[in-house]
Order: sequence, then structure tokens, then C-alpha cells
Amino acid sequence: MEDAAFWLLSGATQLYRLRGYTGPISMHWADVIAKDIASKCEKPLIATGISPSGEIHVGSLREAITGESVRSALENLGKEVRLIYLVDSFDPLRKRYEFLPEEYEKYVNKPLCDIPCVCGKHKSYAHHYVEPFIEAMTQIGVKCEVYYVHELYRQGKFADATDKAFKRREKAMEILNKITGREMKPDWAPFNPLCEKCGRFTDPILDTYEYPTVEYQCKCGHHGKADITKGEGKLPWRLEWPAKWKLFGTSVEPFGKDHAAAGGSYDSGEVLVKEIFDGEPPYPIPYEFVQFKSKGQVQQMHKSKGSVVTGLNAINMNPPEVVKYMFLRVNPQKSIDYDYTDGMPIICDEYDRMERLNYSGEYTEVEENSVRAYQISKNNKLPPKQPVQVPYGHLVNLVQMTEDMDGVFEILRRTGYLEGATEEDLAAIRKRAETAKYWLDMGYADSKYRFSVSKTLPAVELTADEKAFLRDLSSKMESSPWDAEAIGQTISDAGKASPIGNKGAFRTLYRILISQDRGPRLGNFLASMDKAFVIGRISEAAQ
Ligand SMILES: [Zn+2]
Ligand SMILES: [Zn+2]
Repeated sequence: MEDAAFWLLSGATQLYRLRGYTGPISMHWADVIAKDIASKCEKPLIATGISPSGEIHVGSLREAITGESVRSALENLGKEVRLIYLVDSFDPLRKRYEFLPEEYEKYVNKPLCDIPCVCGKHKSYAHHYVEPFIEAMTQIGVKCEVYYVHELYRQGKFADATDKAFKRREKAMEILNKITGREMKPDWAPFNPLCEKCGRFTDPILDTYEYPTVEYQCKCGHHGKADITKGEGKLPWRLEWPAKWKLFGTSVEPFGKDHAAAGGSYDSGEVLVKEIFDGEPPYPIPYEFVQFKSKGQVQQMHKSKGSVVTGLNAINMNPPEVVKYMFLRVNPQKSIDYDYTDGMPIICDEYDRMERLNYSGEYTEVEENSVRAYQISKNNKLPPKQPVQVPYGHLVNLVQMTEDMDGVFEILRRTGYLEGATEEDLAAIRKRAETAKYWLDMGYADSKYRFSVSKTLPAVELTADEKAFLRDLSSKMESSPWDAEAIGQTISDAGKASPIGNKGAFRTLYRILISQDRGPRLGNFLASMDKAFVIGRISEAAQ
């Protein structure tokens, strides 16, 4: 370990200890960033945000969770820190996306806050898409202040920046020219007035600018005057971003790697904020994207077609702390594959494993970072004793075998899963079972996770060997204890003794119980059912 990093580690450790935190410590990326910021900044302000032009993809949670984890790490360091979330509700609708009805053609180039929402239940188009996402952030425990950018414009908050942008237009053009390598048009507009007649953004007549107004000639034929103190227009993105930094005094900002590319908007913003707005750029945390996987294959995303998994979907199909863990366990510079057909049980199992390692303390250096991610995903508030765990995959089976949650809990109790469970544990297990059900009900889960126990013996043709196996199995089961391990052993013994072997044994059992050739792990699956029912079914099929 480098000296500086070692020093950071011991410094953070001491601080944690001072604050009564006694768990194991390692240096997670959020801690490293927080420590760095804390040394530079008295009252850090972290900014995150989104342009709500359509359904908000689970990947946008990465930005929110990154911001929140740094916020909470700074708070742990004793800093007075704020996290803000800026909704870019004043952005124009760039085109009619494929998911929008045809009549939305007429809203192109109008601000998202002025367009009606598609369902009719929200204040605007922007609210329609951002509200469910804010709900997801709240459930995940992101502690932020939400601002709608159109309101900031209408309150005149961008007037000063707009005035500077007009007065220093040539300088801004020079900077953009140099950094983007693109030739700026001589009539480049540092501000786009909003036409009072048709409600669309248009270009100003540059030499008519005199604080606080500028004239414009809109394509609709209207000639008007826009007041920059009343939100009658907006800055283009390249200027708006650094203007926001100045407005809020942003000290930290996570953003997608597209903005971080050479010549990208962070590069230009860094110079523009100093030269045009007399401010300072924030500490950048560029992050890689989240890509969707389905059945092991990467899915190509098309923004215009809408999102496969929104932020709210994501936190409905995994408990919030697991979603947080999924993002926290990897460095922001690494991309994340979000495998919605198979990944949910896998990520929950990994989370559970880190939880066990956290309490046993027996983890390797390689695992340390993930254990720390587990701790942060619990907001560093760990119960004194390891919570009782029920694997997600097991709940996926139980919710399909029962009528309701009472049925799920009845089986869990009977099979010994809930021994020693606290009220909090029970609530967490219920939440997890609900997410497993959502994953199945919404059709995300691969078909291999789905089954239903046939109430009567399915019409299956069995060979003489298969029937002989079932007869042998039913008598062995009569005397076997009814728990997952013993049942698994009994099936394996009977399978080995039969010409159909273990594979044939499993297949036969799945066919007579769920009319499929494959299914959930048999030991646990059968132990969850009534012994008499299982033996009755096996005996009936053996005849
Ligand atoms: Zn709506
Ligand atoms: Zn117009």
C-alpha cells in the first residue's frame, strides 16, 4: 500500500473508532473520495441530477447512490454536507420518441415542464418520469434536496449567469472552439428564448440584448422579447452545467462517462465556470454505465424506445440495501452488468455472503472491499447480531408454492428458517419475499425459475424403471426425517440404486410434481411441502 493511502486508511479508521463504529474497516472508494474532498472543502455540496425525457433507467440509480455514499462518508467524517438532485425539467423535448403517442410531435422543442404527461395524472411530462424515480431514491435512503430546474429559471436564479454569457459570448465561443475542436457558428446563441406565442425554444437576435431582455424572431412568425430574470429562455447545456456549479457552489459531482470524454462537457465546463461565471469546477466522479443483460447476453439500449428496467422496477425486485450493494461493490470506473433474467438471486446471495463475512470477520483482503460495501449499503448502522437470512432463490420458490405471504411464513417457520429472527429480520424477509414475487410477476425472471405445483398428478408417461425408482423412493422417504438435507440424501440414494440414475431421478420428480423437466433444488423444495402430500404423489405416480 502506498504511504498516502495507508495514512488515509489509518486516519479514517481513527475517525470511525472515535464515532463509536467498531466494525472492521477497509478503505472503500467512497471513503477515499470523501477523505480527499474533506481535506479540500469546508462545507461540501454534492450535486446529481437527471434529464427526465423518458423512463429513468436503473443505471441512473448509480449516480444517486454514488452521491449518497460520498455524502454519508463525508458526514461520517464530521462534515456538514448537502446532496442536491437537479431535475432538468426545463430541457426541451428533443424529438418524439418511439414510446410517445403521435400527438406528441407538436411538443417537440417545448420544455419538459410545459408538456402534459402521458398518463394525465402528473403535473407535467417531467414530473411523470421523475416522480417514480424520486420515490425509488427515497426508498433506497438517498438523502437529497430536489430542485426542478424550470423553477430555478423562473425565480431568476440563472439571470446573473445568462447576463455573463451574453457579455462574454465571444470568449465562451473561443473556449468551446478550442476544447470541443468544433467550429462555432458566428451567430452561436448563449441563450435560447422561449417563444411566448408557440412555447418552443428559439434563437435570440444577438445585438438586441440589453439586460434583462433580448429580442427574438421565432420560426412560428412571432417577434418577441424574452426576460432572462423570468425564465423566458434557457442556457444551452454546455453553459448551463457550469452555471449550476456557480449557482450552488457545487464541490462534488458524479456524472456519466459520456460527459467525461476528452472535449466533453466536463472539460469545457471546467474552463467556462472560471472564465465566464467566476466560479470553480466540482470534484468530478465520472462513472461507467450500467448495461442490461438478459439470459447472459448484453442488451443493446435504445433511449428512444424506453427503458427495460427503471430505477423503481430495480428496487422492487431486490431489497433497497441489495440494490445499493450492487452499485457500491464496484468502483465507479467499472461498468456494471444488470442481469434482470438471472441476476437477482445471484446478487442477493453475494450480499448475504458479505453479511456473514462481516459478522464472522473471516474475510480475505480481496473480499474486504465488498464487506465494506455491505456496511455502507446498511448506512453503517449494523445490527449487533447477524440478521437471519433466507436466500432469495428459496423465496422465489416459496412465493410460487403458496397463496400469500402468510403461507410463505408458515413454511419458513415449519422448516426452521425463522429461528432466532427478530422483528426487524421478519420485516426484511417479508420485503425480500415481496421483491422475489415482483421479479416473477413482472416477467423479468427467466422461465427456468417459474413453476407451479400441480394439484393433481400430471398426465405423464413413466417407464417401468422410473416407476420402480418412485416405489423405492416412497418407502425410503417414509422413514427419512423431513428436512432438506435428509430428503436430498434419500433421493440421491434411491437414484444411485436405480438404472435411471440421479439425473433421471430428478427429472421424474419434477415431472410428477410440476410438469417440467427441471425445477428448484429438490431438497429444499420438497421440505417446504407437506410430507404426506409428497409421498402420496410419489406413490400415486408409481402405480
Ligand atoms: Zn403521468
Ligand atoms: Zn414561436
